[in-house]
Amino acid sequence: MGSLAVISPISHSEYSKAAMKILAPVLCSVLVGLLVPVKGFCQTPRDSKPLIAIFIVDGLRPDSINTLDTPTIARLRKEGVEYLNSHSIFPTVTRVNATALATGTYPVLNGIVGNSMFVSGVNQRTAFDTGDYKQLLKLEQVSGRIATVETLGEILQRNRRKLVTVSSGSTGNGFLLNPTAAHGNGIAIHGLFDPGKTAAYPKQISDAVIQRFGSPPSERDEIGLMNWTDNVLREYVLQDLLPDVVIDWEGPLDSAQHVNGVGSPQAKEALHQIDQSISRTISKIEALGLLSRTDIIIGSDHGFAHNTDAVNLLDKLVTAGLKKGSTPRTLSLQAKGNRFCCTSCRRNEKNSANWLGFCNSNPRWILFSLAMARMDSGVFREPSR
Ligand SMILES: [Zn+2]
Repeated sequence: MGSLAVISPISHSEYSKAAMKILAPVLCSVLVGLLVPVKGFCQTPRDSKPLIAIFIVDGLRPDSINTLDTPTIARLRKEGVEYLNSHSIFPTVTRVNATALATGTYPVLNGIVGNSMFVSGVNQRTAFDTGDYKQLLKLEQVSGRIATVETLGEILQRNRRKLVTVSSGSTGNGFLLNPTAAHGNGIAIHGLFDPGKTAAYPKQISDAVIQRFGSPPSERDEIGLMNWTDNVLREYVLQDLLPDVVIDWEGPLDSAQHVNGVGSPQAKEALHQIDQSISRTISKIEALGLLSRTDIIIGSDHGFAHNTDAVNLLDKLVTAGLKKGSTPRTLSLQAKGNRFCCTSCRRNEKNSANWLGFCNSNPRWILFSLAMARMDSGVFREPSR
């Protein structure tokens, strides 16, 4: 987004090595740019510990910000610094951008390359959903790490600073914001990790959250989940945990737009509720006497667009003879450069040529992987069979 602040700033074009090399400094420069004090908020005394409060509104388009629906964000944009030259990481999906935010690297380096990924050790038959944190725990078991580069939580811990993340997105999203929290690198809170049993990492924080706040509403009550989560942020994290950096991932707008569309009454209501919650959190920061040394950053992971043309890809694959049935679970499309292959055609190499013909006959389509193999240090690793 190009609103008050954007933390997914990189062009989505190619994963060129040159581009990757400049990612870290570019991200750094963007963050520095965003950390210019918001007018009236940040007169930082040198002897005070600063707080950086990052709010990510999942799916927020910059043109959705206005004084009616989002008075708080609109005011911050007007009074603060607006970063205009930004773009999501490609593919422009939630967990890819969450991990880019948490690591400052492209997917090809941090290893989270899609909302779904194929890693044979996690599931030999199909791609797993990175929105399910239990699948990420499995990924850690089989590969040693979830993000394959050092994370913000680890960097801060190494420098005796503390990252606390809270999320009302998916559990996987909450986990990816600080994937090594269980290993002593800051704190990751999500009330639905394992409702009533695990609300955070590390365990002592989880126990404290559950004891004090109980279980959150179910994931179907997204506004309720956000309010529960942001209440934990205000009444526990900011008050008792004394973080140096806090990331608050606001989930409800994304799903409201998925279900009802951009600009729908439901999306506007979700966004308004998010704006009000951010306002309450800023008021809490002020009540705690922290506002004068707090930098507030508002960002998004991606925008949304109206879909005017639908393609039933499965039917077209079946018609083209590239797929036998229309069961989605049998489809796993992988990409390397301009070469595509799917698991259902891997056993028959001649189908690769058919695939290229199929793709070339539909030039308006942009095909990207529904399930990609995990990349490691820029090297494409074929999944074992
Ligand atoms: Zn998203």
